Amino acid sequence: MIIGTPKEIKNQEYRVGLIPANVKTFINKGHQVLIEKDAGMGSGFTNEEYVEAGATIVDTAEEIFAKAEMVIKVKEPQKVEYEQLREDQILFTYLHLAPDRDQTKGLMDSGCIAIAYETITDNDGRLPLLGPMSEVAGRMSIQVGAHWLQRTKGGLGLLLGGVPGVAPAEVMILGGGIVGMNAAKMAVGLGAQVTIFETSVDRMRYIDDVFGARVTCLMSNEYNISKHLEHTDLVIGGVLIPGANAPKLISRHQIENNMKAGSVIVDVAVDQGGCIETTRPTTHDDPTFQVGEVTQYCVANMPGAVPRTSTFALTNVTLPYALFIANNGVIDAIRRNHHLRNGVNTFQGKMTYEAVAQDQNLKY
Ligand code: NAD
Repeated sequence: MIIGTPKEIKNQEYRVGLIPANVKTFINKGHQVLIEKDAGMGSGFTNEEYVEAGATIVDTAEEIFAKAEMVIKVKEPQKVEYEQLREDQILFTYLHLAPDRDQTKGLMDSGCIAIAYETITDNDGRLPLLGPMSEVAGRMSIQVGAHWLQRTKGGLGLLLGGVPGVAPAEVMILGGGIVGMNAAKMAVGLGAQVTIFETSVDRMRYIDDVFGARVTCLMSNEYNISKHLEHTDLVIGGVLIPGANAPKLISRHQIENNMKAGSVIVDVAVDQGGCIETTRPTTHDDPTFQVGEVTQYCVANMPGAVPRTSTFALTNVTLPYALFIANNGVIDAIRRNHHLRNGVNTFQGKMTYEAVAQDQNLKY
């Protein structure tokens, strides 16, 4: 199969759909790989590295779309991209179609087979191609929180781990899923005192097994959170109720009246509306705002700031599916693997993903 990866063109997107190691894997299986010139530069991969792995570098994205049987990307195709897709061409990337009618129509009009990373499932009912970005964001949340806790950034002037003879900072993590667990790992590693608030007792048992006495796990309810807020230095928001807006667990009133001046909130769940009443999306260019005397960080694409790590993490999980498609042909691949089939959002002009069909009143 001819596989092609264009340079990402969405604003501030530095990740890339294939890394040189992936190219080598495809080449070893007898496939051909086209990479747009400089596509990997944002993640630190040179054209030479791709060529060494066996890829052909082409000058323009147009050549990729014209020649590739499968286009592998990171972000949803922009208008200029989906207009170039054609019948039976495979598009493998994040799509997030539900709120995006123009893209949905563009993909259907093209007749391509669009497979979304974010709707591929696994045997545990999870979304395995979303997990790595939660790992990145969860780990990053503590790094970011530590930064904004510095006095020079308007913070409390606290080192998360303290030093011998000085108490560590207190970190409150809302939600003990992938974001929460990864935040906890980083915070514990730095020596902070960590409390995770969860609603799932099974999840709390798991967290207890993993962290033992190094993390306190409490039932997530208004009473517990409110009591704890008064001595919290850093709050990480990582709750998720799949398919729904995140529940608001901390109100503006609580921030203004119960939290210390100079404390910090990092609401990672911002992409689902956030779990803090005051949350609104921010960007890497202007990542925080003040709520009273508390700093709030709500960047919706946190992994974008660490594209090299994020690209490795993403391609680690996307490659096996891409290879399965290339080796078997897309029709056979989606027949044989129902988890991959769940990723098919549009197929030769038809809408094949129920939730998007419902949201947009399309025939399914
Ligand atoms: P997850 O499903 O692994 O974990 C969510 C956890 O929240 C679950 O354990 C669940 O039991 C718990 N929960 C649900 N309701 C709760 C409540 N009321 N109180 C406490 N806990 C509750 O999800 P995840 O992968 O960790 O993702 C968390 C959020 O982070 C999602 O909204 C995701 O989209 C977002 N995210 C954002 C970025 C970013 O750049 N900002 C990057 C990756 C993920």
